[in-house]
Formats: sequence, structure tokens, C-alpha cells
Amino acid sequence: MNTSARTRTSSHTEFDAIVIGAGFGGLYMLHKLRDELGLNVRVFDKADDVGGTWYWNRYPGALSDTETYLYCYSFDKALLQEWDWNTRYVNQPDILAYLNHVADRFDLRRDIQFETAVTGARFDETNGRWIVATDTGATYSAKYLVTALGLLSATNVPQFNGIETFAGEQYHTGNWPPNVRLAGKRVGVIGTGSTGLQVITAIAPEVKHLTVFQRTPQYSVPVGNGIVPDEEIAGIKANYDAIWKDVKASMTAFGFHESTVPAMSVSAEERERVFERAWQRGGGFRFMFGTFSDIATDEAANEAAAEFIRKKIARIVKDPATAEKLTPRDYYAKRPLCDSGYYAVYNRDNVTLEDVKANPVAEVLPHGIRLEDGTEHELDVLIYATGFDGVDGSYTKLDLRGRGGELIRDHWKHGPTSYLGMTVNKFPNMFMVLGPNGPFTNLPPSIETQVEWICECIAHTERAGHDIVEATRAAEDSWSANCKEIADATLFGKGNSWIFGANIPGKPHAVMFYMAGLGSYREVLSEVVAEDYRGFEITDVTPAVEHAGAAGR
Ligand code: FAD
Ligand code: NAP
Repeated sequence: MNTSARTRTSSHTEFDAIVIGAGFGGLYMLHKLRDELGLNVRVFDKADDVGGTWYWNRYPGALSDTETYLYCYSFDKALLQEWDWNTRYVNQPDILAYLNHVADRFDLRRDIQFETAVTGARFDETNGRWIVATDTGATYSAKYLVTALGLLSATNVPQFNGIETFAGEQYHTGNWPPNVRLAGKRVGVIGTGSTGLQVITAIAPEVKHLTVFQRTPQYSVPVGNGIVPDEEIAGIKANYDAIWKDVKASMTAFGFHESTVPAMSVSAEERERVFERAWQRGGGFRFMFGTFSDIATDEAANEAAAEFIRKKIARIVKDPATAEKLTPRDYYAKRPLCDSGYYAVYNRDNVTLEDVKANPVAEVLPHGIRLEDGTEHELDVLIYATGFDGVDGSYTKLDLRGRGGELIRDHWKHGPTSYLGMTVNKFPNMFMVLGPNGPFTNLPPSIETQVEWICECIAHTERAGHDIVEATRAAEDSWSANCKEIADATLFGKGNSWIFGANIPGKPHAVMFYMAGLGSYREVLSEVVAEDYRGFEITDVTPAVEHAGAAGR
């Protein structure tokens, strides 16, 4: 961690723009607004340094599943050339080092106030400014509010009976402290999503005993990590312009050729060959979108991919009863997973798998976990790899109020909505980075797309000499309906996961992504600008009553 993190910010309380979050999104937003538009900006983050996801998720095995050369910013050519890497995928310490480097290189820390949680923000209709409250007790104001809160940032900790009685150590992977020692300990991991797979695979060889509490088995393919030859890296660095152009025009933005071939249009032998090649090459998104064009949309294609993975599990896992517990039978329709030898972990003598759907956790005891059938597992450490209240979870926890004092969680009571994944009617001059119904992709290029669009929208409003930019209710409704229509044409809605809000008890099952891809998203954003900010009202401060009529909600 960079020791200059706590560089003191000024004591001013009034800004042109306030940005919440100092991850990929917030850092770039600060650079654009301050260094390009010349605005006076303050960033707040509750962490004590930059990094966002990569600051918080320091659990063993944390690795990006986007190839290294695309899990970075593209906006600065020199930055792309000077950042050295040599593994196909980049691990958490290296991503955090990269973001620290970016913060230093663009001198960002002087405008970031760390260890400061924003507790709420309120739009003041009398002067068109946002009043932002923090946990330090101080309040700040700004004309523009950018929320780069992260879509996987609010942790989900299950409410097991007796959780507070556990006498050992308990950690959520998304809030992992430094210097945790697991070697020689009896460890339990709850959760087998992307995170669970990584942490389980990483710690199995070092712990005394590992008990995995699995609720839903997962389809996963190898990640295919390894050293990238120098010539390949040189080729990438020489061709970055063309690479980014293609990536930003693609659907998933993961850098591989997205298949246009339907799975059932080829013979069963050819399908097997294509799946096997992708399995050997590695990568979850590549397996789902690079093999055939319709794995995520066609039932037969989906079943073919699912069955290929099921057969792999049966071959890898030696104990048939364990293999059966690990074998998913539902759709292959969650954010695709990949791993570094996950299924083989269950061939180890020191690893036990418990199916907590069949035999749920009854309670946490001081010395471990008791399941409903009375089985007790003695544990020194309990790890919650139980994911996040994704996408809108960081918003609904805030006292975030737009026109008329409307709370965002009330505005979203039937599920989160937005216009373009960035704006919400009745929340003028507020822009979300990776807000609900933004693109479902490798995220840095989508983050850059949104940050650049937000910056241009603010510049446009300023050039026009206006106070307020606000999405109309009609535009928000229409974008949300469009996202639903696109998502309904896929099988994703049938896979219960965070991407539809299905992982949080009581949360409405809702479409939370624009699933038509980054290329198409960028085209829509360009059209909106070309049509003079279609779907926005760019106006001056007016009394609340008049505006409520225009906005109609
Ligand atoms: P974040 O990095 O989440 O940053 C948000 C920041 O906002 C945090 O620092 C948080 O402290 C701060 N914050 C939130 N609320 C408040 C508040 N109220 N007050 C003050 N500060 C606040 N994406 C990919 O594309 N590829 C991958 O391989 C990939 N791997 C991932 C692995 C893990 C373990 C996780 C959890 C996510 C992964 N993601 C991946 C998604 C990842 O979150 C994004 O790629 C990206 O890092 C998001 O950046 P961000 O700036 O939008 O949000
Ligand atoms: P997740 O996908 O939501 O998985 C959470 C796991 O915890 C699931 O297995 C879930 O079971 C289980 N769980 C939740 N509550 C439980 C309870 N009360 N009892 C028992 N089990 C419970 O979360 P995640 O693994 O942290 O991943 C979230 C996202 O982060 C990923 O989809 C991805 O976008 C990103 N990520 C990426 C990588 C990467 O490879 N680059 C790594 C980590 C994370 P159910 O399935 O039954 O709900």
C-alpha cells in the first residue's frame, strides 16, 4: 500500500463535483473532471487507500478472470506501454499495485478523502446542489454527484443463528484483513461462487482441514493462467489501438473472437472438439461466448455446454458421491466461472464437501457449525464467500434523496431502474458509474465508456450555461423496458444469481444489466449525444412544484 495514501485534502466543503468511490471508476472520474474539465472535485472513499474491489478483496487466490492486457485503463497510451505484466491473468496484489500507480501517476490522492463513508446525499432543489453527508459528521456540497460505489461492493453476510457466538476467526472475502494466517487450521468456507472457488482452491493445500459448505453446485471451466511469452506481450503493446477498438465494439469486451456459430448447427463431434479446445485454452466468458453464439440463449446449446462440464466433473472427481454433489443440473446461466483446479480439490484427504441445500446450516456454535441433521464441524476459522448485495446494494443502504426528498430505495422498490445505466429521473446532476442496467462485460472498458460519457455530458451542460441535467421518466422507463426485453431473450434470468438480485433474501428479482453488449451500448450513447441528449432535460433551477409536474413521478 502506498504510504502517501493519507495525504491531506483541503478543508473546503463546496465543490463542483463530488465523487464517491476510489476504485477503477472513481479514480478515472476524478482525473477527467479535474484535469480535463478543470472542475474542483473531492472524492470520498471509506477505505484508507485507493483500489475499490481490489482494496477490499484480498482473500487468498483473488484473481481477475479478464486477461491482464484488458483488465486496465485504455485512456492513456503511455500508461499502457509502461505497465509491465507477464501472467495471462492478473492477481489482486498486482491490480492493487496498478491502481496505486495510476493514483500516483495522475496525482489523484490530493483530492481523495479516505476513511470517510458517505452516509447520504440530498438534492437541494432551491439551488440545484447536492448536499453530501459523511460519517465524520461533516457535510459537503457540489453541483454534480458521481456515484462510483461499485456493483460488487456491499457484502452479503448470511444471518445464521448463533453467528455472533463463534469463538474463532470469521472473515467475509470482500472485507479481508491483512495478515490472516490459515496454515494448519481447521477452516470452513461458505459459498461456492467465483470467490469461493478461488479461495477454496488456494487454501486447500495449506490448511489442516477444509470444510466447504455448498448450497448450489457450479459450472466452472479452467482459467488457463500462466506466463505470457514476451513476444506476445510485445505484440499486444504494439497493437493496443486496434485491440481496444475491437474490444469496445464487441459484446463482452473480453478480447476473444465471439462466436457467430449456433451450437446445434454443427455435429456432436464438432461441438465436443470446440468445447474441448476452449476448456484447454481457459476462460469462463470465452467458454460461454467464444465457443458458440447461443449458449446463453438457446436451451439445447446451453444443455450441450452444461453436459460437457458435467462429464468433466465426473472424470476429475474420484469419489462418485462427491462428484454427484458437485454436479449442477440447472441452466449454465450465471456470470461464467473459471478456476485454477477447483474440482480436483475434492480429491484431497483434507477436504470435505457438505451440501447445505440438502442439509442446511442450523446454527453457528462457538467451536464450529451444526447442520440440520446434527452433524457438527469443528472450525478455527469461518470464511464467508457469500457474495454481495450486487449493483443497487450500495445505493439502497444510503440515505440518498432526489427531488421532493424521494429516497432511491423507494424509487427502486420494484427493482432498480435507470436511463443508460448512469442516470435516474428525479435525481438530477447525479451520475452512476456501473449503476443498474449498465453493460454486462469485462468492466474496465465499460467503466471508461461511462466515465467519458458522463464527463462529456457535464461539459455539455456547463457549455450551455445550465444548472440541471436530468433523465426524463419516459427515458428511464423505456431504457429499463429495453434491458428487460434483452435479458428475457437470454437464459440468464433462469439462473438464480446476483445478476438478477436473486441471492439476497427478499430482494426483488429484477433485470440489472444491459445485456446487448458494449459495442451496442456505445452506439446508443453516441446516438443520445447526436440527438442533443435525447431523454434528458437540460434546464435551470426551478421550483420543485413545477418540476414534479414535468418529471411526473
Ligand atoms: P469498486 O472497485 O467496487 O469501488 C467502489 C468504491 O466505492 C470502494 O472503494 C468502496 O469503498 C467505495 N464506496 C462504496 N460506498 C461508499 C460510501 N457510501 N462511502 C464511501 N465510499 C464508498 N470485473 C471484471 O470485469 N473482470 C474481473 O475479472 C473481475 N473480477 C472481480 C473479482 C472480484 C473478487 C470482485 C469482487 C469483482 C470483480 N470484478 C471483475 C468486478 C469489479 O468490481 C470491477 O471490475 C471494478 O473493479 C469495479 O470498479 P468500481 O470503481 O466501479 O467499483
Ligand atoms: P456469488 O457469486 O453471489 O456467490 C456466493 C456464494 O455464496 C454462492 O455459492 C451462494 O449460494 C452462497 N451463499 C450465499 N448465501 C448463502 C447462505 N446463506 N448459505 C449458504 N450459501 C450461501 O458471490 P461471489 O462468489 O463473491 O462472486 C460475485 C461476483 O464477483 C462474480 O459473479 C464476479 O462478477 C465477481 N468475481 C469475479 C471473480 C473472478 O474470477 N474474476 C472472482 C470473484 C468474484 P447460491 O448459489 O445457492 O446462492
